[in-house]
Amino acid sequence: MPDRDDLRPGGGNNGSGATEDEAAHRILELRSAITRAEYLYYVEDAPELQDDVYDALLRELQQLEAKHPNLVTPDSPTRRVGGAPREGFVKVAHLSPMLSLDNVFSEEELRAFWARSLREAEGHLWRDGLRGFACELKIDGLAVSLLYEDGLFVRGATRGDGLVGEDVTANLRTLRGLPLALRKTVPGRLEVRGEVYMRREDFAALNEEREEREEPLFANPRNAAAGALRQLDPAVTASRKLRFFAYFVPDAIQRGLAGQIETLEWLRDLGFPVQDSSRRVESLDQVCAFIAHWKEARFSLPYVTDGVVIKADDLRLWDVLGRTAKAPRWAVAFKYPAEEKRTLLREIVVSVGRTGTLTPVAILEPVHLAGTVVQRASLHNQDEVARKDVRVGDYVWVRKAGEIIPEIVRVDRDARKDDPPPFLLPRTCPVCGSPVVTLPDEVALRCPNRSCPAQIKEGLRHFASRSGMDIRGLGEKLVDQLVERNLVRNLADLYDLRTEDLAGLERMGETSARKLVAAIEASRRRPPARLLAALGIRHVGSRTAELIVERFRGMEALLTATEEELAAVDGVGPRIAASVRAFVEDPENRIMLRRLREKGVAWEMEAASSPEEDADFPMERPFLGMRIVFTGDLERATRGEVEELVKRLGGVPTSSVSAKTSFVVVGRNPGSKFQKATALGCRIVSEEEFWQMIKPFRNDDFPFAASPAPEVEDVSGLPE
Ligand code: NAD
Repeated sequence: MPDRDDLRPGGGNNGSGATEDEAAHRILELRSAITRAEYLYYVEDAPELQDDVYDALLRELQQLEAKHPNLVTPDSPTRRVGGAPREGFVKVAHLSPMLSLDNVFSEEELRAFWARSLREAEGHLWRDGLRGFACELKIDGLAVSLLYEDGLFVRGATRGDGLVGEDVTANLRTLRGLPLALRKTVPGRLEVRGEVYMRREDFAALNEEREEREEPLFANPRNAAAGALRQLDPAVTASRKLRFFAYFVPDAIQRGLAGQIETLEWLRDLGFPVQDSSRRVESLDQVCAFIAHWKEARFSLPYVTDGVVIKADDLRLWDVLGRTAKAPRWAVAFKYPAEEKRTLLREIVVSVGRTGTLTPVAILEPVHLAGTVVQRASLHNQDEVARKDVRVGDYVWVRKAGEIIPEIVRVDRDARKDDPPPFLLPRTCPVCGSPVVTLPDEVALRCPNRSCPAQIKEGLRHFASRSGMDIRGLGEKLVDQLVERNLVRNLADLYDLRTEDLAGLERMGETSARKLVAAIEASRRRPPARLLAALGIRHVGSRTAELIVERFRGMEALLTATEEELAAVDGVGPRIAASVRAFVEDPENRIMLRRLREKGVAWEMEAASSPEEDADFPMERPFLGMRIVFTGDLERATRGEVEELVKRLGGVPTSSVSAKTSFVVVGRNPGSKFQKATALGCRIVSEEEFWQMIKPFRNDDFPFAASPAPEVEDVSGLPE
């Protein structure tokens, strides 16, 4: 990320001594830097600046404009909501502006903000006084507006520039927990606003997958969520596991609601996910207690929060206080300081990954950061080390991207004493000693020795991981022992392991050995897409594996597919196709794959299922062998959810209608598949009929779109 002096907050002369000319110059400089940062952040979802640097630039601009009001222009970034609709989406004019929030960074600023707002409301305050404040955690996601007609979700849009957003209805329909039909009917039109976000672990998994595909990483869950929501293909959005929290009803007061917390409860009753942590408090002291409590406690939530939003709870005050062009005046966001700590970089070690990539890893003096102790941070590759100019013995600033992935932000150059030599990756593999190679068009150095113990171990870990074959009990230490004792030389060897082979290993009794063998056995039933992802082929993560297996209906046809056929799969492309082809053509891999097949690992889509994983479902599989097609918008569940259901009930969800189709489920606004099904004389089933069909096989009668589970236990201890 650039840290150029001209962008540094306070980089210009904005002190009281600044002349009008100097101020004008700095203002222009700041506006240009901020506008560029906003474009990268809101439109490209790929910021170059850290948020706190951006915040500081914006504050500097605000302060300068306050001192020189004659230099303020209506297009200044201080006067408008950042962002613009992305090309390719239908634009939507909001019914009322979707605003940003003013930020405060300290208790004094919070009190000053509030005193100022209330001064303006004087004379309007009612005899019974204020109803207190609503405190809500500020979710680090992106705002959306949802429209419901007679209780049904009809349109969803991003905030955009506050006046015009992007129509992302199809993408929003794929979100878990976003009710497509409200639990209680609200006649006419209802607008609800809230935040789309990505959970920390989903963000980490997505970035892992992107690293796998050598695609640029998302800086934080907010950019990842924005990128996922603003996809032209809803299937991509669906795969990114976005979630939603509701927090605003623009016309709440007209609906007879009196307070913000009451509104949240109302939204909850309608079936919207609402944060459990939100509280009404009586005084600013209690607001400060809420802020203090959640400063650390927020790290235990599964999603990222970057502050507390304090709103006047009394909705009457909202009208009285009104808004500026950019933000409401009845609310303010208290921003927690960015969790960034300075620590010593003790050493840079080199790890060898499952495809042989050499990755430099910084070993740090342990430091407490965003809820955990951090001791290591990946430096990714030689270029990254050079770009950040990180050297052993340096003091470095560390943070966690998305509060989960430790990263070195920058070096404290002033603290560098001697002139330590720049770090260079070795020319030989640190584990097996083979000379390393660089593949064409790649930054990474690789160990080419496929029998390198490091590669075998990492490959096994990946194979056994939760998103792979999910072999419970096969942890790090065990993998090390299996490889070091030559019990496992490739993935297929795992399925030869017997209890007696394992029982002699360290910390492995007879019972654990038996359990592990059973877990390895059970993993044979994982669907072929999981198998393909678990093989660790370069550039092939979970999503890509699903696309490929869906197209070839399993592994067999994939083994003989040409590079062109692979590249023709939607979302795959030539680079991945070449990588898959190279993997399956390799003689050693072919033998390993044949052995996996012989061991009974699920090979074709129809054969795979894992009913044991889902206690909700009985073993009955009414759709066994059936090919089922969905078309049109479904009301009660997303496409991904119903397809998952079909799979669990033994069926095969298929994307195109053919003579082999068992039946077609038709939702609202069906597409061409409906016509084709009618022409071919396929059985047609309505969505309601489909739910009736599966009803006997569920414990509850409504599998999705019910009230989502609460996100976390409330631990705030603040007054109700
Ligand atoms: P914001 O995120 O600071 O605050 C407004 C937003 O908060 C609302 O639009 C809403 O989406 C959200 N929000 C979350 N929880 C909420 C709740 N409980 N109630 C109400 N609103 C809630 O403002 P913004 O204009 O969306 O973005 C500014 C942020 O983006 C800053 O944090 C800034 O650092 C970052 N940014 C960074 C860059 C960069 O280059 N790094 C560039 C532009 C903006």
